[in-house]
Amino acid sequence: MSIDQKVFITKTNHSKLENTDLINPIFGKVYADHMLRCDFTKGAWQDMKIIPYNDISISPANTTLHYAQTIFEGLKAYRNIHEEIVVFRPQDNAKRMKLSASRMCMPGIPESIFMTGITELLKLDQEWITNHPGTSLYVRPFQIAMDPYVGIRPSDDYTFMIITGPVGAYYSKPLKVKIETNYTRAVVGGTGFAKTGGNYAAALKPAIEAQKEGYDQLIWTDGLSHKYIEESGTMNIMFIIDGTLITSPIGDTILSGITRDSIITIAKDQGMKVEERPISTFEIIQSIEQGNLQEVFGVGTAATVAHIKTIGYNGIDYELSDVKSRKYSLEFLNTLDKIKSGIVEDKFGWIHKIN
Ligand SMILES: *Cc1c(COP(=O)(O)O)cnc(C)c1O
Repeated sequence: MSIDQKVFITKTNHSKLENTDLINPIFGKVYADHMLRCDFTKGAWQDMKIIPYNDISISPANTTLHYAQTIFEGLKAYRNIHEEIVVFRPQDNAKRMKLSASRMCMPGIPESIFMTGITELLKLDQEWITNHPGTSLYVRPFQIAMDPYVGIRPSDDYTFMIITGPVGAYYSKPLKVKIETNYTRAVVGGTGFAKTGGNYAAALKPAIEAQKEGYDQLIWTDGLSHKYIEESGTMNIMFIIDGTLITSPIGDTILSGITRDSIITIAKDQGMKVEERPISTFEIIQSIEQGNLQEVFGVGTAATVAHIKTIGYNGIDYELSDVKSRKYSLEFLNTLDKIKSGIVEDKFGWIHKIN
């Protein structure tokens, strides 16, 4: 499929780079100069185009707007210590995007388009990536249904796009989270494992309610019994109990995080005991009370590791260990940072170099 590789490039005449603070940008509000677009029409993916970042035009009857036939991905590009532009495990994002597409009755984007698209876009906007510690360029591929049709059926036409935006060297403060036992994020047979818009829209109200109670985020529990821990916001969740890394197993209801998989791999490589198994709220509260729960942290592309310092359950806030003493999660974070920045060898083959 040589057609996959063709990219038509139109460069901007008005780069925003000069007026952008790459060390402290407002995340999610600033986008780099170009975007990639590839349309699926007449049953086939067409040529890729890179064009200046701008609004796109869609019909008011666009089926995505009404019924949320839409999926996305999220990954980061870094400038390493050798001044190379690298992306962390992008092929895994491509695979996951196909999985999400399949659940949402969408044509999967071929990995060759996904990879060529990211590569060519990042080559063009590489000046947007600095090697200042902690900074990166967030890469947001997404795919939307394009039919101007308000009947409910899978769309015929689709658009795949990639936009990017700078992420600053922000420090993610330790989180206060609430174990949610009323609302449900995902159920068996549903769409929880897919990165699809509706999952996140449905999570807004529970999250806002928790914020009003003073929490930063939720820990979701299973939709049937609300007794088992699932994940947190856009992060998977991990516990260290008596030196063992424990995390909920991937399934229908839990998104298969690439950070999760990376940390499990590193932990096993370091000889640590890892258990992927259902973990109950009862076990968590009991291990807090017995003093065996050493660390709790969320893992995802946004923060890599987000320490959790307080867990709220049934109206009681449980305080966890001091973040400075968290040798396991700090070590995972450190190892991942060193692999991404090229300080240590990429022995797992996770780094994809651009050019
Ligand atoms: C994206 C996401 C994650 C984390 O996945 P990564 O690949 O590690 O970024 C976890 N849970 C949900 C619900 C997500 O959307």
